[in-house]
This record gives sequence, C-alpha cells and structure tokens, in this order.
Amino acid sequence: MSWNRPLIIGLIVLLLALGWLRTNSADTEQVRRSQLMMGTIVEIVASGKSSGQLEAAIDDAFAEMARLDRVLSRYHQDSDITRLSQSDKGGRVAPETAEVIAIGLDVAERSHGAFDLTLGRLKVLWNFDDENPVVPEQAAIARAMAGTGPRAVELDGLNLIKRSPQLMVDLAGVAKGYIVDRAIGVLKKHAITDAAVNAGGDMYLLGQHPEHPWRIGIQHPRQQGGILATVQVRDRAVVTSGDYERFFEQDGQRYHHIFDPQTGLPARGCQSATVITDSVALGDALATAIFVLGPQKGLELLADYPGAEGLIVAADGSLHPSPGWDAYQDTP
Ligand code: ADP
Ligand code: MG
Repeated sequence: MSWNRPLIIGLIVLLLALGWLRTNSADTEQVRRSQLMMGTIVEIVASGKSSGQLEAAIDDAFAEMARLDRVLSRYHQDSDITRLSQSDKGGRVAPETAEVIAIGLDVAERSHGAFDLTLGRLKVLWNFDDENPVVPEQAAIARAMAGTGPRAVELDGLNLIKRSPQLMVDLAGVAKGYIVDRAIGVLKKHAITDAAVNAGGDMYLLGQHPEHPWRIGIQHPRQQGGILATVQVRDRAVVTSGDYERFFEQDGQRYHHIFDPQTGLPARGCQSATVITDSVALGDALATAIFVLGPQKGLELLADYPGAEGLIVAADGSLHPSPGWDAYQDTP
C-alpha cells in the first residue's frame, strides 16, 4: 500500500492548526494516538477523567479497526474481499462485511449507480498504488468494466451472489467510514464521552474537545494545507472525498481514484464533496457518490437522506452547500 505524502503532511498541519494537542486541564486528561492503517494516518483523541481508562479504550479501538481492516481490505490475502474476488459465484461473508455491502448497495441504488462497489477490476487496472501510474488503454477499461454495476451483486443474508465470475468487489469507498464507526462504538463501550477518530478525512466527533466544541477544518481542494471551511459538530461524522488525495497527471490532465461508472474514467464533476451525517459509513459512501454525481445531482441525493448535509466544490471551484449546511458552519 502506498502512503500519500502531501495528504499525510496536510493532515498533520490541519490537526496542529486546530489545536489537537495533548492537554491536561485541571481534572481532564486528553490522550492522542495515531497509527498507520488503511493507507492513511488514523488518529484517535479522547478525553476523560482517567488516562488509564482512555489508553485502554484507544488500544481496544485500534485493535478493532485492525481486525476489521483484515476482513474488509483487498490487501489482505484472507479477507472476505479477496475470497469473493477469487470465487466465481461469491459466497458467505462476515456479518460486518454484509453490513458494509448493504450500506453500499443502498447508496448505489439511490445514486442510480454513481456509487458502485463492483469496480474492483477497474481499480486494479488504474493501479494508483504504482510508482508511475499511466492512463490505461480504452479497450482495457472496457474489459475491466464488463459485467459491473450494482445489480451485478446481490446480498442474501450473509451470502453475496456474484453475477459474473471475474467481478471484483471493492469496498474502499465505504469501508473506512464503517471502521471509524466501529472504533467509536468501542470507545463508547469504555464509557468515553468525548473523542475524535480521524482516518484520513473520514472522521467522527463524539461529544466535545475538553475546552470547546469540536471544530473541524475542511481541506481546501486546491490550496495545500489551506482550509475551505470550518464546521462545529457534536456526535457527527464529517467525511470528505476529493480529487487531491490520490492522483497523477498525464498530458496536463489530473487522473484521480474516484471513477465515474458510466465511463470507467475519473469523475469530472467535483474537486471535493464533504458530508455531515450520523454515521461515517453512510457519509463515506455518500461523499464518494456525490463526487461522481457532481453538485446538482449530488445535492438531490443528499436531500434523500434526512439529517445529512454537505458542501460540494464543483470542478470550476464554485461552492454548493446543502440547505442545512449553515447550521454547522463555524463563523469566527
Ligand atoms: P478515500 O478512501 O480516499 O477517502 P473515497 O471514500 O472517495 O476516498 O473512496 C475512493 C475509493 O473508492 C477508490 O480508491 C476506489 O477503491 C473506490 N471507488 C472509486 N470509484 C468508486 C465509485 N464510483 N463507487 C464506489 N467506490 C468507488
Ligand atoms: Mg467514500
């Protein structure tokens, strides 16, 4: 797996800028830890009365994230995703995998296929993990797209049915969010009430920072380290998909890792899409889908999910907030 250095540096700058530093006020301890996981830096910060309790909770949360990554990632040889790719007809999956697939299929349906978890072969073909990726031949793209589409898979309980043998399921557009949700679940089991989990732009903000509400800077898609907007949230997921995370340039064109399933090429409607929801998994899938749909259809999709708000940066740089976005926007 390759690490995207500008993204990681950007994240560190952003976190420092927002003051996510270890603080010990009178009776509140704050513990912050990060690990490289899922191709990004995952950071957990939690506060409470006892640092021992916080440390134990964070240890458990990281362990659960690592366990789920082994189940959901195509980079692990014995994961559900690897097994599904190798089998002709699909097969039985873990309850967690079924849950992630169900969320993905719901967004696939409601986005009319803009979110598509059957693009695994296309992803392998584009190979953004390569040192020197190149734009594939049109014929190769067509071959990788053959038989794909949300209807190409069906979930029957814990059984995933593949309609075509070569089909590769790719949960990367939704799994990271799901894993962050589960980490928050573990922290809550440890009675943690104030915490933040950030997996490279997929975050959940529980309760508040020891001294003030959580304030999250949203990365500007064209100014490295620049902040597009700041939101104030409590018990919410904030997820951003952008074309600046993983990309290469060829002949002056930017090629990034979010594909338009209609063409097999990188989607061209947006620079970034940020979603605020209750669940990081849903926010993750929605941000990817909106990125593909572009601002107008993206806002229509968002309106289909009560309580979800978003800020879309269109390809021309124009800003498109959803009707309820202002309630989160932090005005200094
Ligand atoms: P990130 O994981 O970098 O935060 P996303 O959540 O937007 O970004 O997921 C991008 C990943 O999702 C791609 O690397 C690819 O594996 C997968 N993907 C690409 N296009 C689509 C799509 N149209 N629908 C669903 N998943 C996609
Ligand atoms: Mg996503």
